[in-house]
Amino acid sequence: MATQLCDLRDELIKTAKYIATPGKGILAADESTGTIGKRLASINVENVEANRQALRELLFTAPGALPCISGVILFEETLYQKTASGKPFVEVLQEGGVVPGIKVDKGTVDLAGTNGETTTQGHDGLAARCQQYYKAGARFAKWRAVLKIGPTEPSELAIQQNAHGLARYAIICQENGLVPIVEPEVLTDGPHDIKKCAEVTERVIAACYKALNDHHVLLEGTLLKPNMVTPGSDGPKVSPEVIAEYTVTALQRTVPVAVPGIVFLSGGQSEEEATKNLNAMNKLNTIKPWTLSFSFGRALQQSTLKTWAGKKENVGAAQKAFLVRCKANSEATLGKYGGDAGVGLATESLHVKDYKY
Ligand code: 13P
Repeated sequence: MATQLCDLRDELIKTAKYIATPGKGILAADESTGTIGKRLASINVENVEANRQALRELLFTAPGALPCISGVILFEETLYQKTASGKPFVEVLQEGGVVPGIKVDKGTVDLAGTNGETTTQGHDGLAARCQQYYKAGARFAKWRAVLKIGPTEPSELAIQQNAHGLARYAIICQENGLVPIVEPEVLTDGPHDIKKCAEVTERVIAACYKALNDHHVLLEGTLLKPNMVTPGSDGPKVSPEVIAEYTVTALQRTVPVAVPGIVFLSGGQSEEEATKNLNAMNKLNTIKPWTLSFSFGRALQQSTLKTWAGKKENVGAAQKAFLVRCKANSEATLGKYGGDAGVGLATESLHVKDYKY
């Protein structure tokens, strides 16, 4: 571990451990302005700051929801926004026992000479941005790296480049007091089966931990945000129990015991699929030295968004829909989800090819 980290060490470990509290998880509400615009367009709502603020206020003030949540990932604009009555969102979250987090990557760019593979940008000026975000109340960060499965993908270049990008981001965050969420997302696009996804996910995560160690990252003060191991979007379907078995096995083989929590992305699964898969993992009777929880974006917000439809009179009903998902996922982190939230909108597939966050 780098010497300058010594003072920050205890705080990083405490924050990471708190976010990984069983029964709680992360709401990923860090859609960039472009991405939230697509969500708002799907309900015919204009992509202006007032509407982005209204959606986020609806989520953060939903009665009963915050106890199910330990962290919320914000986009920069949202970190500085307030409720309609003038209370900073950061305070709303902190008072509800929720740690504010911040997306710090600047999106992906193509890797030359590959078949559309990417690397993630955002290292320039990252230390200064982390300091600014820490001052504003953020205590953890997210950086999304994207890998894809194809006949010759992911390439070794993409795996190494993204692993080192994540590791460099992670140490810069830790040097500035933020717990890094390490997110190497293997996209679900393609006709491959679950075995192929398992093999690629293991290769990618193993490379990430080699790089994190090479960069002297304090693993106890990090969280991993992986994809679940599933068949490709056009591949043969399998049950939650099979997904759970393959996912936990891949993690047992690659994630050090020092990591306190693994918080899955939903990656285009329906709300209900994501919850059931997480529940099945937590029911598995095997060695799980880390908390297995959620850091869902689409799978926590879709039915809420549709119920809201941008109308004031729907806010109460939308907040109830959000609470249903929060409770179901909280129960799933304990392996206690009974399947009672799986109706209507919650079962719609949210898969988008080549998804940009
Ligand atoms: P999804 O759960 O919608 O995949 O998004 C989570 C996320 O934060 C991706 O970076």
